[in-house]
Amino acid sequence: MKDFNPSNVPMDFDKGFVIDFDLHTGMSAMKDTGKRHLSQMKGMYHDDAAFDKAVAQGDPMVYEFHGLPVPETAGDLAFGCSIVYPGKVGDEYYMTKGHFHTIMDTAEVYYCLRGKGYMLMENPEGDWRALALEAGKAVYVPKRYAHRSINVGSDEPLITFFVFRADAGHDYGTIEQKGYRKLLVERDGQPAIIDNPKWK
Ligand code: MN
Repeated sequence: MKDFNPSNVPMDFDKGFVIDFDLHTGMSAMKDTGKRHLSQMKGMYHDDAAFDKAVAQGDPMVYEFHGLPVPETAGDLAFGCSIVYPGKVGDEYYMTKGHFHTIMDTAEVYYCLRGKGYMLMENPEGDWRALALEAGKAVYVPKRYAHRSINVGSDEPLITFFVFRADAGHDYGTIEQKGYRKLLVERDGQPAIIDNPKWK
């Protein structure tokens, strides 16, 4: 179907636009593609020996994200997709680094397109939850909560669409330094929450 009265600019944040969001065609319109290999997550998994071994054996790509060059203003919305690949480091599932928003009072929505996983969230006061995600479910990440996607599937990527206030900003440093209070590991073939022995 054709567009009526479209903007001449491909991604016009002032007049609106439609872009191809088919993950299977490489999301050609998406920019700022980030790929995260395991070696970029040093110290985040609890099993250092398993981590070092996996990095030495090929440093697998754990996740990638695709975003848009959105203007970082309070009235705009940033959106994109995140893909977490299946795998484990020791008994701990592949996950994203996780982050707080620089502007803490900003929420985010993730909609799961494919796979099985969890959104692990915690706030600075120590409240936390891990909410199950599968295709068709949306999770609301409240303001002030750090958030991390975790793939607990054995053979399928966890693919989510996210949208948040465009000027929210990302604070990765706090998680890199302190870690999460909780981790998601496999116990008897099932996901289980444990205290993070490295949490500071
Ligand atoms: Mn976020």
